[in-house]
Amino acid sequence: MIQGIVYLVGAGPGDPGLITRRGESIIRRAEVLVYDHLVSQDLIRLAPTSAKRIYVGKSRGHHEMSQLEINQVLCQEALAGHFVVRLKGGDPYVFGRGAEEAETLFHAGIPFRVVPGVTAGIGALTYAGLPVTHRDYASSVVFVTGHDDPDSPECRADWPLLAKFQGTIVVYMGVTRLPRIAQVLIQQGKKANTPVAMVERGSWTSQRVVVSSLKEISESCHPLPVKPPALVMIGEVVRARPSLDWWSKLPLHGQTVLVTRPETDSRESLELLEELGAEVLLAPTISVRPAEDPADLDQALAAMDSYDWLVFTSANGVRFFIERIFQTGRDLRILGHIRLAVIGPATALALNQFGLNADIVPANYQSEDLASALAGHVQGKSILLARADRGRSILKDELIKTAHKVEQVTVYHNSDVKEFQEDILASLMAGKVDWVTLTSSANVRRFISMLPGNFPADVFKELKFASLSPITSQAAREVGIEPTVEAQNYHFAGLIQAILQHSLNEKA
Ligand code: SAH
Repeated sequence: MIQGIVYLVGAGPGDPGLITRRGESIIRRAEVLVYDHLVSQDLIRLAPTSAKRIYVGKSRGHHEMSQLEINQVLCQEALAGHFVVRLKGGDPYVFGRGAEEAETLFHAGIPFRVVPGVTAGIGALTYAGLPVTHRDYASSVVFVTGHDDPDSPECRADWPLLAKFQGTIVVYMGVTRLPRIAQVLIQQGKKANTPVAMVERGSWTSQRVVVSSLKEISESCHPLPVKPPALVMIGEVVRARPSLDWWSKLPLHGQTVLVTRPETDSRESLELLEELGAEVLLAPTISVRPAEDPADLDQALAAMDSYDWLVFTSANGVRFFIERIFQTGRDLRILGHIRLAVIGPATALALNQFGLNADIVPANYQSEDLASALAGHVQGKSILLARADRGRSILKDELIKTAHKVEQVTVYHNSDVKEFQEDILASLMAGKVDWVTLTSSANVRRFISMLPGNFPADVFKELKFASLSPITSQAAREVGIEPTVEAQNYHFAGLIQAILQHSLNEKA
């Protein structure tokens, strides 16, 4: 019999980057992914597309599974022999009922492993500028649930004892009952001016932080200014926040950027956006995959000696072409005699990453310019154009006028993505997206056709568009989009720079 297994994995408090390396690699192996409401879609997407995804969390409009049902799902899937990942917000063992799930598995004889996570009571607070300890303010910390009514004999938190505690009190699930908790703490002797910080959705881009005091909260008859999921920090250490609040000060903090380029493009530039504080939503409008039948490409590689020039019109073309060189057991020496021409700097950069320099990059990044830049060099020469399965034929038509031979080979396929993923569309429709990146004319047209007919006009009007180049901007205008910014250097880093500059100007 095949033995299944369950991994309880902590997802961290919100920012998907806060998962552990082990947690990430386990998700990538999931056959079944059982996940909560408080888990980032970015982490859910890490699971193989073939993985069965089971949502068990609580959120409005969704059926909520009881703990018993969750336990049953875990057992059933593992007993069916699957590699089950139970992905939980924060750390599985901190108010996550992870221990109960592990005990159930133990009693059912199902092997389990636990991968710790950064608990919200530490990680979310860090993003809110709140350290749990500090030499000047607190040398101990307690994590407590605020879920129970402090006046009930069943209350699991010992508030009278905590009123005497000198360290930091971190309350999970406590915002609803906070006014009563504050009253009890004061009655039991805690100083009324003790500062209190409330952190809603800490480390998510929608993070909100409100600072108050026990006295103010205990007297408040208004609804609290924060909504669950939120944490409460009670203690002197809240006073350290003004100098430690690094995250909300990042230049793109609170801005959500929808990146529409193919997923195969480099991650580094996305990380740059994230480092600036933005939330990045990946919504490729075009998907890219290697040529299904590489026979023509393999033939071209075998005949590399017969070519003088190799021409690339996209970074993807470079990557798939060179990958195929390696896959077929060859190496870059087969290009030793070859001269290289590319359409623009992003394509040149893709070559650079393999240690190759482009001999020709035209001043403007269009096929016409590339053709005229090459014209003087290709008299009587043989040229290989490495390209996608679709695209304009102008380059070949122009080059054939002077060259001896021009051959085109398909190194990858482009296909249209038909629709946005559900969660991404929901964010777009709800006006939660600030910026949309436009990186090519095709990309502009795809974006527009992927928007549903009922897309709210007022939301569309508020969207800001960042265009990669004048050509892309032109294509945008043709479909009624006026780019808010245009990159001065026509590559993705240039586009980020333009967004950043715009945000800095707005803040100034
Ligand atoms: N296992 C989780 C906690 C689960 S209990 C962990 O280790 O973090 C759920 C509670 O955690 C919420 O009601 C809220 O109090 C807190 N919480 C979780 N994520 C949060 C976040 N990003 N910001 C603020 N509070 C959060």
